[in-house]
Amino acid sequence: MIDLRSDTVTKPTQEMLNAMLSARVGDDVFGDDPTVKQLEEKISTMFGIESAIFCPSGTMTNQIAIKAHTNPGDELICDRLSHIYVYEGGGIARNSGVSTRLLHGDRGRYNASDVANNINPDDEHFPITSLVSIENTCNKGGGSVWSFENIKEITNVCKKRNLKLHLDGARLFNALTESKETPADYGQIFDSISICLSKGLGAPIGSLLLGSNEFIKKARRIRKVFGGGMRQVGYLAAAGIYALDNNIIRLKEDHKRAKIIEDTLQKLPYIKFINPVETNLIVFELNEELNVNDFLTKLAEKDIYAIKTGHQLIRMVTHLDIDDGMLKTTVSALNNINL
Ligand SMILES: *Cc1c(COP(=O)(O)O)cnc(C)c1O
Repeated sequence: MIDLRSDTVTKPTQEMLNAMLSARVGDDVFGDDPTVKQLEEKISTMFGIESAIFCPSGTMTNQIAIKAHTNPGDELICDRLSHIYVYEGGGIARNSGVSTRLLHGDRGRYNASDVANNINPDDEHFPITSLVSIENTCNKGGGSVWSFENIKEITNVCKKRNLKLHLDGARLFNALTESKETPADYGQIFDSISICLSKGLGAPIGSLLLGSNEFIKKARRIRKVFGGGMRQVGYLAAAGIYALDNNIIRLKEDHKRAKIIEDTLQKLPYIKFINPVETNLIVFELNEELNVNDFLTKLAEKDIYAIKTGHQLIRMVTHLDIDDGMLKTTVSALNNINL
């Protein structure tokens, strides 16, 4: 099976499983799990941020951050393609009672003036704008990478206008693979950062939320309320430590393979548009006369799987469990598909 539906489909390797099985554990709700502590300290050190908390999912880390940074009735600013808005079940409104001001950026990327122009005035008619959220890479933008200069300008607006700035960095390491910045550069300019271990990094589960000691203390309380307090979870944290140690360096291979799929798609007559591939996500649009489900079925007959992400839109994602042999099979299947 060649599963290009998502980078979340990877299975732990034997080495990762060995690390998991030999983990030292304790009850993490009591703060007794040494492996969870080690993971939290490891990521804090990488980013130069005071503290971190291990959570079951990126949805939870994002939703905790939103709740910790806002009060009910506030408004947050994000792009209309943001995962926090599109794919988290309306959690912004449901969990935090916060309304959303949507920006129309370029593949999920907006700039400082977009933020400045959408901050509500201090007037009782309007919700209080209190939070800005950036997603790097942007999932629905087809893995688009933000320029760091652009982010720094947004940081300046947020500082000046007293807004908190959150990073949904589910795939931040994919972005960092394609740019010269380090995690520490990002650590300096955000009030909170969410990182997924279960995407390109290949862990079976887990996300980390980073922030100041005070912020993470608040986050720990919210995680408990959301039902995310976990017990002997060091077994899973060990997978996260293994992922950070071994799987960041290889993300460039996923990007290279994604480019090859892009090159293949570019030559096919039935494709209307491909988002320029920047990382490991390939999002493309089929010509109107083609039926997306037929296309996906034809691929599935060759044991290749992709997903529909919108009208005529298909997404493929390269990851740890896609090797060069599978890439070759995919390229040949695309070149020979009979529509
Ligand atoms: C996957 C993802 C998340 C978190 O998803 P979970 O499935 O809840 O872990 C958050 N943001 C982005 C951009 C993502 O791609």
